[in-house]
Amino acid sequence: MRVHFTPEVVRLEKSHRELKWEIPVNSSGNKRIMNPGRAGLVVLSALLLLLGVSSLSCTTQLVAPSQQLKIVTTSNIAADWMGRVGGDRVDVFAVLPVGTDPHTFQPGAGDVARVAEADLIFTVGLGLEGAWLRRLLENAAADSGRVVALGEFVDPLAGEEEEEEQHEHGPFDPHFWWDPLRVKEAVNEVARRLAEADATGAETYSRNAASYQQELDRLHTRIMEGTSQIPLERRKLVTSHETMNYFAQRYGFEAVGAVFPGISTEREPSPAELAELVRQVRELGVPAIFTETIVSDRLARAIASETGVEIVRLYSDSLGPPGSGADTFIAMMDTNVEAIVQALK
Ligand SMILES: [Zn+2]
Repeated sequence: MRVHFTPEVVRLEKSHRELKWEIPVNSSGNKRIMNPGRAGLVVLSALLLLLGVSSLSCTTQLVAPSQQLKIVTTSNIAADWMGRVGGDRVDVFAVLPVGTDPHTFQPGAGDVARVAEADLIFTVGLGLEGAWLRRLLENAAADSGRVVALGEFVDPLAGEEEEEEQHEHGPFDPHFWWDPLRVKEAVNEVARRLAEADATGAETYSRNAASYQQELDRLHTRIMEGTSQIPLERRKLVTSHETMNYFAQRYGFEAVGAVFPGISTEREPSPAELAELVRQVRELGVPAIFTETIVSDRLARAIASETGVEIVRLYSDSLGPPGSGADTFIAMMDTNVEAIVQALK
């Protein structure tokens, strides 16, 4: 029996960890799918070398034109961006189900499998995902070349000063999607990385990204128009956790304080911190407290009843379910801004 190692019968799928090749085992051309494992890989590499097949790289260009790129994101908001840039060429899976808190999430075995199979893994980074992300990437043996932390490409704002080294997040605030102009930067990076992994789709990615960026520009204009109705003295934000610093900076608001101290939701406030927030809400005449769909509003309700201010719910770190008016990033922002303007104008 002759074994033909020609490019026609060598088929690379996904990554070299799951390298498979098809070998015609008899003259009628029946094929057997083999998974070579580590030892087999060495043998295959040696054979390919002998045969002068040098164009097969294990790090890039593994995607046949007919095959979708397998993309995993942590944030379901980022998953929406992937779908917009990648279109039919990508298969996107978000680790965080709609309505879950990225700071405290615990992934399951299915998530590990998805990450292990992914061509590219997009995180928000900047500490948004907490310790669970590091464990997930380790468990899935995800090499750093497949992992893109989008927050690193958006000129991130500094986070709050931590007195104790008790949090996993770094010195930056991860909630950059509250600024559509920074999302445009993230979208650039998405298009660049997709094109790198799938050169055939490069033009599509670039075109899709440009068209989505125009929508983001229009969103930015709508937010400016909407928030212009809010008097300066009422542009004060109290939120469940510090999620709106980017919005505050871009559109001229003051992020007065948060029920959960800091840019994570990991730590509940102390009685003294709650009392201080109540004092600020009263003294500064804060018109509303914005709670979030991802965390309990129990403490926010306590502050609201203490101070008599209104409670308004926003979509912060997750999209909403279908039909919520927040099931895409742009719809989510429009819904949030409408709620903010109604509460503060
Ligand atoms: Zn958050």
